[in-house]
Amino acid sequence: MTKYVYAFFEGSRDQRDLLGGKGANLAEMTNLGLPVPPGFTISTDACRAYLEHGSEPDELAGEVSEHLAALEEEMGRTLGQPDGPLLVSVRSGAKFSMPGMMETVLNVGLNDESVQGLADFAGGDERFAYDSYRRLLQMFGSTVLGIEASVFAEALDDLKSEREVESDVELEVEDLTGLVSTYKQIISDHTGEDFPQDPRVQMDMAVRAVFDSWNTERAVLYRRQERIPGDLGTAVNICSMVFGNGGEDSGTGVAFTRDPASGAQGVYGDYLQNAQGEDVVAGIRNTVPLADLEQIDKAAYDELLEVMATLEGHYRDLCDIEFTIERGKLWMLQTRVGKRTAGAAFRIACQLVDQDLIDMDEAVQRVTGDQLTQLMFPRFDEDADRELIAKGMNASPGAAVGKVVFDSDTAVEWAERGEQVILVRRETTPDDLRGMVAARGILTSRGGKTSHAAVVARGMGRTCVCGADTLTIDAKGARMRTRDGVEVAEGDAVSIDGTTGEVFSGEVPVVDSLVVRYFEGDDDATGDELVAAVARVMEHADQARRLAVRANADTPEDAGRSRRFGAQGIGLCRTEHMFLGDRKELVENLILAESTDEQEVALAELLPMQRDDFVAILEAMDGLPVTIRLIDPPLHEFLPDYTDLSVEVALRDEKGNSDSLQHKLLETVKRLHEENPMLGLRGVRLGIVIPGLFTMQARAILEAAALRIKDGGDPHPEIMIPLVATVQELELVRADIHDVAADIEKRTGVRPEFAIGTMIELPRAVMAAGAIAGAAEFFSFGTNDLTQMTWGFSRDDVEASFFPTYLDKGIFGVSPFESLDLEGVGELVRQAAEKGREANPDLHLGICGEHGGDPDSIHFFDHVGLDYVSCSPFRIPVARLEAGRSATEDTASTA
Ligand code: PEP
Ligand code: MG
Repeated sequence: MTKYVYAFFEGSRDQRDLLGGKGANLAEMTNLGLPVPPGFTISTDACRAYLEHGSEPDELAGEVSEHLAALEEEMGRTLGQPDGPLLVSVRSGAKFSMPGMMETVLNVGLNDESVQGLADFAGGDERFAYDSYRRLLQMFGSTVLGIEASVFAEALDDLKSEREVESDVELEVEDLTGLVSTYKQIISDHTGEDFPQDPRVQMDMAVRAVFDSWNTERAVLYRRQERIPGDLGTAVNICSMVFGNGGEDSGTGVAFTRDPASGAQGVYGDYLQNAQGEDVVAGIRNTVPLADLEQIDKAAYDELLEVMATLEGHYRDLCDIEFTIERGKLWMLQTRVGKRTAGAAFRIACQLVDQDLIDMDEAVQRVTGDQLTQLMFPRFDEDADRELIAKGMNASPGAAVGKVVFDSDTAVEWAERGEQVILVRRETTPDDLRGMVAARGILTSRGGKTSHAAVVARGMGRTCVCGADTLTIDAKGARMRTRDGVEVAEGDAVSIDGTTGEVFSGEVPVVDSLVVRYFEGDDDATGDELVAAVARVMEHADQARRLAVRANADTPEDAGRSRRFGAQGIGLCRTEHMFLGDRKELVENLILAESTDEQEVALAELLPMQRDDFVAILEAMDGLPVTIRLIDPPLHEFLPDYTDLSVEVALRDEKGNSDSLQHKLLETVKRLHEENPMLGLRGVRLGIVIPGLFTMQARAILEAAALRIKDGGDPHPEIMIPLVATVQELELVRADIHDVAADIEKRTGVRPEFAIGTMIELPRAVMAAGAIAGAAEFFSFGTNDLTQMTWGFSRDDVEASFFPTYLDKGIFGVSPFESLDLEGVGELVRQAAEKGREANPDLHLGICGEHGGDPDSIHFFDHVGLDYVSCSPFRIPVARLEAGRSATEDTASTA
């Protein structure tokens, strides 16, 4: 029988699948002997069962009752007991943290009777008791009963203005009892039912609300953005309440064991006196730096530092912590290995190695390709003129320039029409997620580094400055004002620096990142501490990885840059661009040729140009393999559009200006027109129908190689045939290429070394991979076409048409053109690799579709034993790192 509920002392940090991240870490802290309020976790199994059947599993209520009874016994109080009640928090906690996405309800168990009991229990503190009760009503009303949170917030604001106070802590007991009545009225007005007084009913409803929150629109959107699978479900943690809102000797805070922005060791975090946890994260009141706690409560501060040291030593990583101080007693509410900026990830990984806490393999595991990508973002030009208009906290690094918008709808709307926008809010809430995704950067006037804006922006890699409290934001009037009285209206440009927290008016020019300069080989960059950390991790990844990394590059410039970025050759040189520009006319002549002789004349004119192209690329990649793919797209792509040309011809005819060449062109365009060009005369089919085309290209490649050899170079061309379905196609082309090579040798006395291989882009080629491998020195998986042909998705159309619906419905979590579909296309790759190697043990295997630069896909290609991945130049460092991460997965260790 499935067990659905676990006491904190029954779990461990390794059970994140079952207990969620929060539950697993609460269990770990409990077992480490840290001060965690007792409680239990309802597993993700229960959530999944609930989501699947639309109701809780039968056994759940009984198990919850048993654990609740044990908790009540331990605490010596029962849930909602009228005199001195046990209260609990009900918190979501999925395997992967989804900040602010899911629900939490605090103070469950309070009702009209027990509120008085709580006051008595707290030494007659009625203010505290009613403050707790109004918080329950507010959270329960919005999260469990679905009433707009703003309705409660407005009632609180109205009360504050009526009493002429700034902050909720200045409200008196009578104000709060009145507010409780107002909130209860709001609940019955909105739902037609009274707030449930039965504590157990409250708890069960809150648990159900947490389950339901897994599938809210914002949670679904967040998961898609973060590539978190949609079927994991969340756990629910029921934890006995401790109170940070019981007076000035109480409070709540968040802490990091290191600075999540830089990695520096020290005391980082925010503290808020006389408050409950939600106040800090929501940025409702401005917090004080954690270091100030030393003055406020030295004993609690010292204990907190000890706990932080214990946690860092135990997890061997940066931890973030939520804590509460209840009347001077410290309680740990949560910990987890903390999110950090990309730069901090590299720095911390190296620091932990230097402290002998982890080894280099583990350091490589501690960073990701996505983080490296973020470090390759541009930053502001330090020498440019700039006008500082505000300074906030450096919440998420990068340099973002854009037009100011004050609400998420406008952010989305403007971004859709191609504008770069900066979303400016007093503070963000989970409802702003769409706007945050659409914006280049986020700027808030309230909230610390752990506010919603900061945490979410960091997770998404968006630039963010938060807590710029000299800005007065008037969202309704769509304007903001700086301390010096400068007005910034919607549509005005600002530049925000998430690394320094600075906000500038206008557009500040941006420059490349130092990390990119390091990859480019700029020695000046290597003195930088971050660059040194990146270099150290990259060096280790390079040593460890099995996969080679090549570039998709079609020009000498791209080839050169790729090489500087660490490419070990070219995995895909597409030759079709060499048929464009001023060569288009020659190509047209070729297509219009009516006899083989005419074709040969056109090809002969193209040959020297192609040869020059290849000489330059082989030179840029001297000594390294260069895979050149013979022309792939259908010929009509090189001709004018049929409709445009028809109109042009008709107009000329009408004017009596008829042009016979144009008529011929129109005829040809018509003849070559295909309903499904992607399934038509392209790739190897073209090479077979117009044999001179492929042989001209092969000749250009081999002559270029011969020229390079004569010049003392070391060329390694590899000729790749696209869209092969059967070995016969490959054999035909192969024989032609060998004839060309023999001819070149006869004429020049030089026979360059070369390989012939094929792309695997069709399911049929996968099935026939054994036979095809008999005629190939290498396979390169064209996973763009292989995805298209396997799913039957037109790669040019579907991303904009029905993919959004598919993503919404969870049919896939990410486009299969972006990250390899392991179950389908991945399986084909595996099969073709196995069949190919079995038939030809020397077969070299690579991948050159877009997936070659995608982190998850790279791990898969490594696991199936490919020899290399090939990707666009800018993704090469990421591919090197991810290949290193894949190779060190099993060997990484902590000390
Ligand atoms: C592929 O299909 O994956 C590929 C690399 O070729 P292209 O994108 O040029 O069709
Ligand atoms: Mg292709």
